[in-house]
Amino acid sequence: MRSLQLTPSSFAALFATLVSLSLMSSALDAGDLEAKDGKQWYKGNLHTHSHWSDGDDYPEMIGLWYKENGYQFLALTDHNVLANYERWIDVDMSKGGREAYDKLKARFPENWVDERTVDGILEVRLKTFDEFSGLLNEEGSFLMMLGEEVTDIYKTSPIHMNISNLKEMIPPMKGESILDTMQNNVNAAIAQRERTGQPMMIHLNHPNFHYGVTAEDLMRVVGENFFEVYNGHSGVNNNGDDTHADTERLWDIVLTHRVAELKLPLMYGLGTDDSHSYHNMPHPAKRSEPGRAWIMVLADELNSNTLITAIEDGQFYSSSGVTVNRVSSDETGIAVELEPVDGETYTIDFIGTRAGFDASSQPVLNDKGEEENITRTYSDDIGAVLQSSTGTEARYTFHPNDLYVRVQVTSSADHPNPSQAGDKKQAWIQPVYGPAGQAEGVK
Ligand SMILES: [Zn+2]
Ligand SMILES: [Zn+2]
Repeated sequence: MRSLQLTPSSFAALFATLVSLSLMSSALDAGDLEAKDGKQWYKGNLHTHSHWSDGDDYPEMIGLWYKENGYQFLALTDHNVLANYERWIDVDMSKGGREAYDKLKARFPENWVDERTVDGILEVRLKTFDEFSGLLNEEGSFLMMLGEEVTDIYKTSPIHMNISNLKEMIPPMKGESILDTMQNNVNAAIAQRERTGQPMMIHLNHPNFHYGVTAEDLMRVVGENFFEVYNGHSGVNNNGDDTHADTERLWDIVLTHRVAELKLPLMYGLGTDDSHSYHNMPHPAKRSEPGRAWIMVLADELNSNTLITAIEDGQFYSSSGVTVNRVSSDETGIAVELEPVDGETYTIDFIGTRAGFDASSQPVLNDKGEEENITRTYSDDIGAVLQSSTGTEARYTFHPNDLYVRVQVTSSADHPNPSQAGDKKQAWIQPVYGPAGQAEGVK
């Protein structure tokens, strides 16, 4: 097993992380996640594409879709661009073509759409973030956040990281390895946050997209505590394959090593859409449509500051269709209550790793017997199902050796529009330290 190697820049990032962590409550004190005492659940998506890059609709139309479909916040995260300058697009050459244009004109028949004809070509000016957020934001009920998908690559491994609520565009920072590339982008986000005082968060997108990011690299990123456990794009391999671990398995490998070996904070799992396709819904495959997965954040106000603080404190869960009413955790255990839907039954799995686990691992070799950039195989002690319950509520009592425990809920109902065939509706509740992890882990 490789040891943790810190470069000077990652030392700086680690220090920043430790400082910010000292302001956070420890996971065991997280208490109840429940809509009460002025707090409520806010539903949002942190991964969205528009005509500003390779999405097929105009940002204001996308914001309207989310606003009218039960969401309270949305981050627009186009590839290596911020929606903050004058930009005209060729309607017919754009991804959404005439269909998107006709819908835009029908929705805004007067005085909103800026258009012109240049050399016989119809062009529309893309609305800036200030313009479309001004149109869509509504105090207490809807909030647009400016974001960016920093779209980097190391050799053939795509490394995409979303930054939500940033102020200035961050170009792909590049690096000498996959881990170094991730770390350099994280450090750029942390530096901008410290310089500007703007609350912002960075997360790793779709680790299994081209199987670019392994658990061994992801676990070692310092100052970045989020990754996408479910991404709604149909090409990102959430479920892995015969040689590649699925994203839930990645999560458990990362969590186990962060707590037991690396002494890094817990990593939280996000559900996002990565939506690009907004027309002719629903479509069977090869598309990335809105509404597939989201996060539910418990906060006392709808603004980017309180949302990001709550997410950093683990006051949220991710979902692709299961609603959680309450999560309570204390030093004795963790309990969950769901919002049932008629005709559905639920499996509530408490998943974790216990101290004394078998830490051995083996590389995955290719046909020539060479090691590849593939997550290693580990024993079943890692991410074991510690208790499996059925029903709409369940409680798990910690074992003294529990390093961390997370809860995963799976409905009997199929996902209505899955990114991969066979997906069920699920919820992913964030990990907390168990008694042994509380002793071992970063507080
Ligand atoms: Zn991406
Ligand atoms: Zn994306």
